[in-house]
Amino acid sequence: MALIVQKYGGTSVGTVDRIKNVARRVARYKAQGHQLVVVVSAMSGETNRLLGLAREITPEPDPRELDVVAATGEQVTIGLLAIALNQIGVKARSYTGGQVRILTDSAFTKARILAIDEANMRRDLDDGNVIVVAGFQGVDDEGNITTLGRGGSDTTGVALAAALTADECQIFTDVDGVYTTDPRVVPEARRLDKITFEEMLEMASLGSKVLQIRSVEFAGKYKVKLRVLSSFEEEEGPGTLITFEEEVDMEQAIISGIAFSRDEAKISVMGVPDKPGIAYAILGPIAAANIDVDMIVQNIGAGGMTDFSFTVNRSEYQKTLNVVNAERGAGLAAKDILGDNKIAKVSLVGIGMRSHVGIASRMFKALADEGINIQMISTSEIKTSVVIDEKYLELAVRVLHKVFELDKEPSVLA
Ligand code: ADP
Ligand code: ASP
Ligand code: MG
Repeated sequence: MALIVQKYGGTSVGTVDRIKNVARRVARYKAQGHQLVVVVSAMSGETNRLLGLAREITPEPDPRELDVVAATGEQVTIGLLAIALNQIGVKARSYTGGQVRILTDSAFTKARILAIDEANMRRDLDDGNVIVVAGFQGVDDEGNITTLGRGGSDTTGVALAAALTADECQIFTDVDGVYTTDPRVVPEARRLDKITFEEMLEMASLGSKVLQIRSVEFAGKYKVKLRVLSSFEEEEGPGTLITFEEEVDMEQAIISGIAFSRDEAKISVMGVPDKPGIAYAILGPIAAANIDVDMIVQNIGAGGMTDFSFTVNRSEYQKTLNVVNAERGAGLAAKDILGDNKIAKVSLVGIGMRSHVGIASRMFKALADEGINIQMISTSEIKTSVVIDEKYLELAVRVLHKVFELDKEPSVLA
């Protein structure tokens, strides 16, 4: 008998029929003698609908109240799944995040999990119940409802698996695993049997929405066995196991995947004095406004002047421009401030990059051959990212997928 945490995403619980399907799958695992904790998302589209309602009232709703609204989506699906399970003879009890007591900080709309009280769940499990928990939500120490950021049900699943020391955390979604890139963009994308935590962390942080980044961080930190599977197959296949590097065999490709993100915007501060303190003068106020900066490029100065560019999440584009313009108004010497929110980031990810040179130049050549201009570059040990015009994003991903032969099984590393 194993203790398994299963998480079902929005499309997997998108209709009552699909919820009944989920119930049947859960019943099958239960019949095999396993204990089950099931985390569900809101029905697909529901969280967007709820956030949209609030934004019909004001573009900047109070974050505490926004979380009160957003958290209702998951409350519906836990109740429906528990009813569906009871209906087919499986004892089940639903729990909101607050009822479990998934304690978070008070950063509304992007709260972090601090602790999970597993006592109630454990008691109900031992009584033979399936536990159905609302994903994406928690409660702070004052009892306020919080949410964990978009895609946060993945993190609920992994955090519960860690707290309960579950044998496995299974993420059921609408694809049958983690692919070399988003199969919606590249139909030739290939399912990976395994991917390392490090690579998955990069893929998630660089835009692959198949797993929320915090769920991967949690799984790495607490050594949770994490697998991505399809909820649309009658008998699920092997899916993709997120694993530790030493477990991945030598048939490791140099590049494991391509991640991309449209959530990007670029700000360029042109003609600033090339002197100590200028980066701080520009980025200090942005950090103070709680805006995350991603890539940063500063040109070599000429004639005592330089240009400074950086990227932020597209949702914070206007806010960032406002901060920089305010600084200019307050005395930051800059010839011009330019903004572009029609950019995208494409990244190659692979631990094989550590031991292989020339990957970046192959990437740049492939893009050049298609006439795609690279605006910014950033590299780390296991990834190379470029910023390009958004309109070339899909072309770039397809070309790179082909040039690096990601549609083919990797051969043994030379
Ligand atoms: P859920 O609602 O189940 O959480 P998501 O929409 O959040 O599902 O994540 C699944 C989607 O992630 C897939 O439908 C796919 O389009 C997208 N995706 C992006 N990158 C990848 C990738 N590398 N492998 C698999 N799916 C990916
Ligand atoms: N329902 C939430 C969202 O749409 C959380 C999730 O699905 O993981 O972001
Ligand atoms: Mg998701």
